Amino acid sequence: MKFITRPLVALAALATVVMFGNVPVYAADKGTVGIAMPTKSSARWISDGNSMVEQFEAAGYATDLQYAEDDIPNQLAQIENMITKGVDVLVIAAIDGTTLSNALENAAAADIKIIAYDRLIRDSENVDYYATFDNFKVGVQQATSLVNGLKARFGDGPYNVELFGGSPDDNNAFFFYNGAMSVLQPLIDSGEVVVQSGQMGMDKVGTLRWDGAVAQARMDNLLSANYTDKPIHGALSPYDGLSIGILSSLKGVGYGSGDQQMPIVTGQDAEVPSVKSILAGEQYSTVFKDTRELARVTVGMVDALLEGGEPEINDTETYDNGMKVVPSYLLEPVSVDVSNWESVLIGSGYYKLDQVK
Ligand code: BGC
Repeated sequence: MKFITRPLVALAALATVVMFGNVPVYAADKGTVGIAMPTKSSARWISDGNSMVEQFEAAGYATDLQYAEDDIPNQLAQIENMITKGVDVLVIAAIDGTTLSNALENAAAADIKIIAYDRLIRDSENVDYYATFDNFKVGVQQATSLVNGLKARFGDGPYNVELFGGSPDDNNAFFFYNGAMSVLQPLIDSGEVVVQSGQMGMDKVGTLRWDGAVAQARMDNLLSANYTDKPIHGALSPYDGLSIGILSSLKGVGYGSGDQQMPIVTGQDAEVPSVKSILAGEQYSTVFKDTRELARVTVGMVDALLEGGEPEINDTETYDNGMKVVPSYLLEPVSVDVSNWESVLIGSGYYKLDQVK
């Protein structure tokens, strides 16, 4: 902790974290890491939080893990509180990547290091490192899987496809969309893929706060406005929570039963409901991002900042946050469908078989 001097830190090394009611008392030797996660409504962030707590504590850090239920002022208050308590490092997966500049200025003034976790923090000089996945590649994998699925299920095109984007306040959403469009745009230009609604571009297809209910409602509207006299063959979905909403909408008008084949729907995060949906032949694919690996890279970055080690960095060009290019480590995403789910998700120990079957 910032407030205790070195000899006390050494003494504290012998102690452990003690809870008084809900208030954690920090006493780890290497310092305290404040971890600000966006929401518990999606299982991936719960895995991220758990993996980080486990790995930071194993490495000798105390942790303060907070979830903000996708509420921006709530996340801001949590971060400000961590700064006041004197954490040594902040690891932040921002809800809105543009709203933290002032808080981070205060953090930097108090010599607190800052790591952007999974989502880039924008418009701030005060971001030391960025730990994430190759977000453009996620989009490429989603669109590639969509196209492969369309060919496998529907034979030759043209295919009617609708596009869904992630939350426009999340930098990742643009990388996913642009990655996907690098595959889809040439097919749209050639007429092999047709977006009957004409709705393209993140300003038209974005889904605020990654909200599945919003995606479901938009799909309802798209279906009734464009697909009463022709079938839809696919939907580009950037996140499993949206995919489940989109699939509900499709099932609601009869897709997946009788002679109405289920359209190809992509996803991301390999969340349990979506893995089950893939096994049931509904969702076509997802993208697995091993949150244990992301936690491992993040712990390495924190060690580098506080203990002087070498951080794992493999990208110093891609992630310009508007103020600086943030040194990053990009992990590899893995496309998952019915052909490889078992080796990727069970074989890696990420899930146990009985969680998804
Ligand atoms: C993450 C995705 C996730 C999405 C919604 C993005 O920032 O990179 O893994 O699906 O947020 O939570």
